[in-house]
Amino acid sequence: MTTYAVSREMLAGNIRQLKAQAGAVPIWAVVKGDGYGLGVLPLAEVLSEEGITHFCVTDVKEAEILRDNSFTEDKILMLRSVNDRGEINRLLDLKVILTVGSEETARLVDQIAAERADVAEVHLKIDTGMGRYGFLPEQIDRVIALYGEMKHLAISGIFTHFNCAFNNEKLTRQEFAAFMNVVEAIRAAGQETGVVHCCNSAAFLKYPEMHCNGVRLGSALLGRMPFRTKLHPVGCAVTQLDEVRTLPAGHTTGYSALWKAKKDTRIAIIPVGWYHGFRVSCQPELARNRDCLRAALSALKQLLRKKKATVMIAGKQCPVIGAVGMLHCAVDVSGVDCKCGDPATVQISPLHVKGMPVVFRA
Ligand SMILES: *Cc1c(COP(=O)(O)O)cnc(C)c1O
Repeated sequence: MTTYAVSREMLAGNIRQLKAQAGAVPIWAVVKGDGYGLGVLPLAEVLSEEGITHFCVTDVKEAEILRDNSFTEDKILMLRSVNDRGEINRLLDLKVILTVGSEETARLVDQIAAERADVAEVHLKIDTGMGRYGFLPEQIDRVIALYGEMKHLAISGIFTHFNCAFNNEKLTRQEFAAFMNVVEAIRAAGQETGVVHCCNSAAFLKYPEMHCNGVRLGSALLGRMPFRTKLHPVGCAVTQLDEVRTLPAGHTTGYSALWKAKKDTRIAIIPVGWYHGFRVSCQPELARNRDCLRAALSALKQLLRKKKATVMIAGKQCPVIGAVGMLHCAVDVSGVDCKCGDPATVQISPLHVKGMPVVFRA
């Protein structure tokens, strides 16, 4: 049977390391996307054991799971604007902090809160470059006006979300400056901004001066960042060798016959393929020529460095050979002491993993 095994100890270790780095600044743990693939509840439980009390979601269901499972006092922030009446009411029932990123959302939430004779706690979202939700920095006068006009909104925070924190320092610094200008202008107008937060994992790790008084961390918890860190990947697929055989010289394996045996070769077949998230990544669409060029160069570098996919069998990293199939792949096990049924582990990001149960281990 193939499972996705998550090490509780590695996850707890990452959380402790991130907490130490955050110092007195609270971590708002992001558990969106089904807890980055680990499951909202199992992830949140480990976070909670490590003292995390602030959570971020992007779906009503995620907030429900938390509130239904003894996360009754924790802060929960909905990271996106919500404009569906039913969803807003449900989120207010669940005491979730809403995001207000436009005049329209502000009015709707204010109106719904008024109808409930309630006050909705919200954080304002400023759009410094991501271009999804949020007031533009130029709309500062309107933002300031909200504090006085919306009688049923309790504005307890303000945030922005960087679009290039992992790869563009100059742009990130510009976006941070634009954000802080808005924060300063609100303070200058005599209003309390509450929690000021802008860092995702990449910005948190790279720019300590941007931590403000809250940070929103997701991928760092899982220990998989696109640059080198001291964090540990928390999960991997655990499977077994379903077949071990010797292909005669000249024989091929996999679609398109991309690999051909130069000599008689002992191979193993494992039931893991791209369907399960193996060798899948969330590459942005390559719309700009220079991005295409960069991607081609990085592919070439990988080729030259022979950074190929591997599977861990009997303590050895064995190279995957041929094309990874939908549900299977082949591994060269020449000289490796292994037999049918032996265990194998495969590095797959929990963000992409699917089709196998996620199991938390000590
Ligand atoms: C997903 C998300 C985060 C967390 O991003 P990571 O890079 O996974 O740390 C933070 N803020 C917002 C608004 C997000 O959508």
